[in-house]
Amino acid sequence: MPTRPYVIDEMISAKTIAARVEALAKEIHDTFRDTDKLVVVGLLRGSFVFIADMVRELDLPVEVDFIEATSYGDSTESSREVRILKDLRGEIHGRDVLVVEDIVDTGYTLQHVVGLLRARAPKRLKTVALLDKPTRREVDIKADWTGFEIPDEFVVGYGIDYAQRNRNLPFIGAVRFLEP
Ligand code: 5GP
Ligand code: MG
Repeated sequence: MPTRPYVIDEMISAKTIAARVEALAKEIHDTFRDTDKLVVVGLLRGSFVFIADMVRELDLPVEVDFIEATSYGDSTESSREVRILKDLRGEIHGRDVLVVEDIVDTGYTLQHVVGLLRARAPKRLKTVALLDKPTRREVDIKADWTGFEIPDEFVVGYGIDYAQRNRNLPFIGAVRFLEP
């Protein structure tokens, strides 16, 4: 999809992200320290960098699985209609599950995915989101752990894209459109 010209203003540095991921992993480890196996479920595609860093900080028996949901298409606005494009490979009945999301915005995506997974009767199900935009919330949901609360800006980097670009930036930046 063609996009208007834009620049990216750094919002959260790679170093700050790394320190926060380490701190989150400690808290998650404490919660699941007695687990026989933790199924870490990444929401594709935006969480792929976050989940990669997170699991390497978790000194626990871990299984990694992915689910792909979409509400965005290639636009910058949520459609509020969440569709599952790819379901989990494994079963989570009776398992410990950690859902890893990149951003909680309106909240529809996390609400939908949590509802879907809870119906499969996991033993425990917790959620972690790297970013949270609380001012944008339309449904009453909050991740159990949040990396950073951010203002209502469209962000990219650290796995998060704009029209499939900029996922490989090591930091989180805000997209600023240039005047035509
Ligand atoms: P929600 O359903 O909470 O409105 O949207 C959550 C999803 O929207 C996130 O998983 C993320 O993929 C996408 N999203 C929300 N805010 C942003 C943003 O600032 N940049 C990008 N690239 N995606 C976003
Ligand atoms: Mg997403």
